Amino acid sequence: MRHLIIGAGPAGVVAAESLRQLDSGSDITLIGDESEPPYSRMAIPYLLSGRIGEAGTYLRKSTGYFEEQNIEVVQDRVAAISTQNRSVTLASGDSRAYDRLLIATGSSPASPPIDGIGLPGVHPCWTLEDARAIAARAAPGAKVVLMGAGFIGCIILEALAKRDVELTVVELENRMVPRMMNQASGGLIKTWCEGRGVRVLTSTRVEGISGGQQLEVSLSGGETLLADLVISATGVRPNTEFVADSGVEVDHGILVNEHLQTACDGVFAAGDVAQGRDFSTGDYSVQAIQPTAVEHGKTAASNMVDGKEVVHRGCLNMNILDTMGLVSTSFGAWEGVDGGQSAELSDPDRYRYLDLQFDGDVLVGANALGLTQHVGVIRGMIQTQLRLGRWKDRLLENPLQLMEAYVAAAHGVSDGVNTSV
Ligand SMILES: Cc1cc2nc3c(=O)[nH]c(=O)nc-3n(C[C@H](O)[C@H](O)[C@H](O)COP(=O)(O)OP(=O)(O)OC[C@H]3O[C@@H](n4cnc5c(N)ncnc54)[C@H](O)[C@@H]3O)c2cc1C
Repeated sequence: MRHLIIGAGPAGVVAAESLRQLDSGSDITLIGDESEPPYSRMAIPYLLSGRIGEAGTYLRKSTGYFEEQNIEVVQDRVAAISTQNRSVTLASGDSRAYDRLLIATGSSPASPPIDGIGLPGVHPCWTLEDARAIAARAAPGAKVVLMGAGFIGCIILEALAKRDVELTVVELENRMVPRMMNQASGGLIKTWCEGRGVRVLTSTRVEGISGGQQLEVSLSGGETLLADLVISATGVRPNTEFVADSGVEVDHGILVNEHLQTACDGVFAAGDVAQGRDFSTGDYSVQAIQPTAVEHGKTAASNMVDGKEVVHRGCLNMNILDTMGLVSTSFGAWEGVDGGQSAELSDPDRYRYLDLQFDGDVLVGANALGLTQHVGVIRGMIQTQLRLGRWKDRLLENPLQLMEAYVAAAHGVSDGVNTSV
């Protein structure tokens, strides 16, 4: 059996390892187009903040690891796939045949349509190559403009702040991390950052960038910022160009079924590129986070092996973000569901916030700020779809009773539980 995997990120690497465990005699080839050993983008902020070196970003640290696993790693770019011939064509002109194919090509930064976005000194923060370019300009005291305060933007923000740059964040929406946190908590993150010397401009658009060594960034309000470095973190799009005319169907990402198989026999997709099932909604959407990539990689690998059939029940959309020491989390249906109820607790002076969303007596989503002790319980409650019974009403009165509610509901205990906060 020849297993071919396109993309040597977390989804591809975990799939290759799982295949090796499940199918010791098969040929496994991992094709990646970056000129680095397989690495984790998640580790780039740690590299930028100086906490690790480049080798610390590598997904597998020991030299010769992939050879030992009998996994062939090829550095090339897949230019096209033929699902009829069961082969892929590489940019080098070479071609490779497969019995089972996994597409794990991740996503790329979406470049906003802004004049000057291609100027030297304007970079996304997506690859190790980007990180090197950013590190070269982000010296202490350098003026840095960060476009976008989404999940990735806020992770980079933390790393840049550690480099002692003079940082301005420009966000189009009216709060920080708008696709992860609600108005109240996103607003608190902004105040927190401002209190630590970062200028944050929300409801503001970058209109254009010009200049040479010193860049000029024009904003929608009429102001012009001077910058030594502009970082663009305005969203990503799945890497799907090479599947054109192959029969593999693409919506936002590559469409897969509950086995992570595409519309084509023997072809699977995983990670940022795949439009997989969402645990909370049951709908199929792209979840561009590493835990989803890893779970997809494992599940797809199981289904690539003959005689195996694993149903993917869906990944919980979960984000944990540390913004200059303030930890924010979002889980599942954090914006709530039709007909649902919610409980909110806000202590802005202490930067603590909790918002719970219920569907009937089941917790289905949450936003939390500065309350890290509840992360495991919230996740457990949502993933097990725990019926809370009358504990739901207690949580509506006091959302901080999460642990008591979890213990009582999970063990069928209704009385005798210490309910003090
Ligand atoms: C700065 C940063 C910080 C992040 N922090 C977090 C975090 O804290 N938590 C979290 O959950 N997620 C985080 N993420 C997101 C996370 O890194 C991604 O969700 C994860 O990398 C997805 O894994 P993947 O294997 O699907 O794709 P990728 O890691 O993107 O790997 C895909 C690989 O395929 C290659 N490829 C693409 N096209 C081709 C082709 N045609 N031929 C061959 N190879 C190809 C790509 O170059 C890439 O090397 C972060 C991302 C960034 C950029």
